Amino acid sequence: MGGGLAGLAAGVALADAGCRVRLFEQRPYLGGRATSYVLPNGEHVDNCQHVTLGCCTNLEDFYKRVGSADKIKFFDRLVFLDPQGMTGIMKADFLPAPVHMTGSFLFFAPLAYPDKLSIARALAAILFAGGRPKDAYAADPISMMAWLQRHKQTSTAIERFWRVVLVSALNEELDRTDARFGIDVFWKAFLANRSGYRVGVPSVPLAELYEGCRIAIEKKGGEVILRSPVRSLHFENGSLKGAIFDGGREESADSFILALPQDRTAELLPKEIRFANPSLAHLDKFKVSPITGVHFWFDREVTHEPFITLLDTQTQWIFNKTALYRKEDPATPDQGQYLQLVISASYALVRKSREEIIDLCLKEVRQALPAAREAQLVKATVIKDAAATFSPEPGVDQWRPSQETKTPGLFLAGDWTATGWPATMEGAVRSGYLAAEVVLRSAGSRQKFLQPDLPVTGLSRFFV
Ligand SMILES: Cc1cc2nc3c(=O)[nH]c(=O)nc-3n(C[C@H](O)[C@H](O)[C@H](O)COP(=O)(O)OP(=O)(O)OC[C@H]3O[C@@H](n4cnc5c(N)ncnc54)[C@H](O)[C@@H]3O)c2cc1C
Repeated sequence: MGGGLAGLAAGVALADAGCRVRLFEQRPYLGGRATSYVLPNGEHVDNCQHVTLGCCTNLEDFYKRVGSADKIKFFDRLVFLDPQGMTGIMKADFLPAPVHMTGSFLFFAPLAYPDKLSIARALAAILFAGGRPKDAYAADPISMMAWLQRHKQTSTAIERFWRVVLVSALNEELDRTDARFGIDVFWKAFLANRSGYRVGVPSVPLAELYEGCRIAIEKKGGEVILRSPVRSLHFENGSLKGAIFDGGREESADSFILALPQDRTAELLPKEIRFANPSLAHLDKFKVSPITGVHFWFDREVTHEPFITLLDTQTQWIFNKTALYRKEDPATPDQGQYLQLVISASYALVRKSREEIIDLCLKEVRQALPAAREAQLVKATVIKDAAATFSPEPGVDQWRPSQETKTPGLFLAGDWTATGWPATMEGAVRSGYLAAEVVLRSAGSRQKFLQPDLPVTGLSRFFV
């Protein structure tokens, strides 16, 4: 139940293993939070721009299973722009991990020498500990900000380096982020492997990535049923026996995977089932953090870059959707340019009106991209999601239940379940694969779906 990435990954993996899967989704489309829809004027709009990284091995496996891998464009050059027009580029050179980005880091203009030295010292602490520094993995979890201060980071290093990467990757401010998640991002994406940092961006509207899911499930005799919200669950003698839909229709199955957000899961599970499963007693402890997406359509091209990271502004990323969606040989030249801006952990924008957000972001885009100053803004849309992801606050992992429960027939999936990963598409797919594994295990099969992390390569191997 639930056609987000967790439910889709579980459903497709189980269908691949020969199971007959019936997937129920309340909305008329698949993809959950990582989806797109069509506006009344025919425009395809992502719920919000989604990006993946080279280190997201399970998401990559999922895209391959459903025939969407070629719809993700990977980039190994990251462009940073500050309000004064200073540009910084990060990319790998010929050196092995973990020094593969040293060249671009040394010449990275938005940071001064003392900032770079402090960053190098903190990265070395992560590297020498093989990604698990003791001061972040002690019994009492600490915030990323506390860890950075302990490692004497300059304020510019925090603002223009750590914060820029981590707030987008984890959707939370540094003082509300568990240091383990922050350190893991740098270990997996930047230190362990040369390709972990590569940014993957869909070249189609998000919903188009899931077209192969229905085919994979139906091929094995299963079904994908849209517009079907689960209203309640039917338990008998402590086992899950059925799901109840509108009109009291009940569907039975050998196993049920609830791949719903944590609050919906909590609503559907009766008290006695939560008491029987101590790991389900904390579903109300998750906090959430917001993301705001701003969509601008200009009358002309204002940037050639596929995406840009802005420094010292509310706007964190600008994605050039026109370029990202462009086919190899377009039949007609592009008319204007469509940009999508992303602001993660957008607490400051939650109470602002749509007009205020558009004004603020337009000013920042025009400051960063001189060509936008002359261009006409043809239209604009703001999509605020106040509860975009669960907050990766220090210690949150203790509330995250496993995909397996003590209740026969009941399994869980969702980015918020125990995966070790923060709320990401990779985390959601991992949870789906883990749920599929425990369903099969309950039927006596040991089939595995979870993919290993990228191998630790180059000189980094000497530290694990
Ligand atoms: C604005 C935004 C930007 C993001 N950006 C990124 C990014 O760049 N990179 C990244 O990796 N991650 C990003 N994420 C996080 C990512 O989208 C999520 O971690 C992931 O999609 C969660 O998948 P899920 O299947 O666990 O949950 P969901 O996607 O929430 O899926 C749950 C599904 O259950 C359905 N459902 C709910 N109740 C019922 C019911 N009663 N019956 C039937 N169906 C029901 C819902 O409709 C939904 O389809 C972003 C999230 C948001 C909101």
